[in-house]
Amino acid sequence: MPRPPCPRRVARPPLCDYFKPRGVPMTALEEVTLSVDELEALRLADLEGLYQDAAAEQLGVSRTTFGRVVEAARRKVAEALVLGKALRIAGGAVAWTGLRHFSCGTCGHEWSLPQGGGRPRACPACGSAEFRRLDRGPLDGRGARSGDVR
Ligand SMILES: [Zn+2]
Repeated sequence: MPRPPCPRRVARPPLCDYFKPRGVPMTALEEVTLSVDELEALRLADLEGLYQDAAAEQLGVSRTTFGRVVEAARRKVAEALVLGKALRIAGGAVAWTGLRHFSCGTCGHEWSLPQGGGRPRACPACGSAEFRRLDRGPLDGRGARSGDVR
């Protein structure tokens, strides 16, 4: 049996997991799939502007592996942009880091709490009980599957 992949540490689930070019019908659309850890690598390197050592450390991988992950991610994003393909964000062996993330269904407020401790009673902004855990969203199951990553 292959060794399960070592999960990469990702701060939070993607805000959006699908991007498509305007005006192209879904049936004619080709897709590129970016894994959640690849998206996180892009975020760390290109949005946060971290040096590769620091970014690799945050993702929980070696510098060499980080270089490979971010390069694959950039190629996929370029492919989607240049060739007019849709971009799906899914999969990858991912461990969400330390924080639990919540989103209020009433006011849209998002907040984070450390692991441990019970479920919060209400949204700290509006007091509504209609909130949900973001890091246990539909992406979580896919993210935890083994054999999903190179
Ligand atoms: Zn609220």
